[in-house]
Amino acid sequence: MKNRYDVLVVGGGPAGALAARTAAEAGLSACLVEKRPAIGTPVRCAEGIGKELLKDFIEPDERWIAADIRRARIIAPSGDTIKLEQHQAGNEVGYVIDRKVFDRELVWRAAEAGSDVFVKTRAVAPIMENGAVKGARLLACGQPVDVRADVVVAADGVESKFARWAGLDTTVPLGDMMSCAQYLMTDIPIDAESTDFYLGRDIAPEGYLWVFPKGDRTANVGIGISGRQSRDGSRARHYLDRFVAENFPDGKVIEHIVGGVSVCKPLPCTVADGLMIAGDAARVVDPITGGGIFNAMFTGRMAGQVASECISAGDCSAGALMKYDEAWRVSRMGKTIERNYKVKDYFVTLDDAKLNTLAASLANIDMKEFKVSTLIMELIKRNPKMLMELRALK
Ligand code: FAD
Repeated sequence: MKNRYDVLVVGGGPAGALAARTAAEAGLSACLVEKRPAIGTPVRCAEGIGKELLKDFIEPDERWIAADIRRARIIAPSGDTIKLEQHQAGNEVGYVIDRKVFDRELVWRAAEAGSDVFVKTRAVAPIMENGAVKGARLLACGQPVDVRADVVVAADGVESKFARWAGLDTTVPLGDMMSCAQYLMTDIPIDAESTDFYLGRDIAPEGYLWVFPKGDRTANVGIGISGRQSRDGSRARHYLDRFVAENFPDGKVIEHIVGGVSVCKPLPCTVADGLMIAGDAARVVDPITGGGIFNAMFTGRMAGQVASECISAGDCSAGALMKYDEAWRVSRMGKTIERNYKVKDYFVTLDDAKLNTLAASLANIDMKEFKVSTLIMELIKRNPKMLMELRALK
């Protein structure tokens, strides 16, 4: 490991991989460090992503596509099901991927572009000079080493600490932190071409439960509930166990994960002098779906681009790096997060009766595409009062 790079990226997830790759492709010296001993594990993800969203970053490859999805079903507390068939359902969840392979592929591409990559290397503190980030102190296989850089990209995920160490407030309100549990289950009767979403206070309070297929009889069966609903005896895993006992009593759990998903507003500012924050660390997960793979890649790539421009111009101050913050906020991704945060805040107030009414209003729906935005438009069209209720939210 050299002790100086143009760009140092903390975290080897999708955000970090795209930041390092983009910086290296722009001719910068880049270094990506990942605290875990292997990229891509453990997987903390339901692994669903829209085909359209992926297109810009990587061409589809059967090595990491676990299931090609043809339909989606949203199951209301009453059991009423909204079915969205293939020509409508491709947009939000087009593939269920294998992130162990996918994340490695992304990092491999960063390495191929010329970035250095070090696993088992943890950033433990920023190097600060006159209030600016100038690199990071790392523990590389337990050995302390200081690496200086013009720009550090903090892509250290939902549990991000780097930005906080550098002085930014990265707190997520409890109600905006989804507490998740997921089993990779096998030997279960599923529709291997459908992603299923279950709603309801008794199923997943202020969240949803998902069944995302990964093969004929294998699926990610998981749940996210609001942090404020999680308490002794009613944690995410308890709801999940209840669902599994009722629906897949003979299934076998071959992997068990827990994790958090922030469904808050993005950080008020995602840059500081010498520092950019990307992906989950910037809190850019979609507040309704909890999807963050695309947003991580999108912001990671944008961070790499702006870092390269600023380094070429010799100015890596917060003012110069601000171009990154402004650009992602006005992008479609930024606008979607802003809108979906308000809609999410509305949905969490709904009781089961209201959810049932909304689901019933979508019976026989014929949408041209399955996107959260289109679904919301349809809901508003069929339930005009909903618009007023949404507008009443701040
Ligand atoms: P991460 O993928 O979390 O990568 C951050 C990396 O930084 C990690 O590898 C971590 O080890 C490393 N790191 C942390 N601190 C340090 C340090 N100090 N030094 C070095 N390395 C460090 N999104 C979807 O799009 N679709 C889904 O279906 C979906 N399902 C989900 C289900 C669950 C249960 C959870 C928890 C999340 C889900 N998400 C989903 C969200 C998605 O997983 C994340 O949004 C995505 O992984 C964010 O990418 P990232 O690169 O920002 O962070």
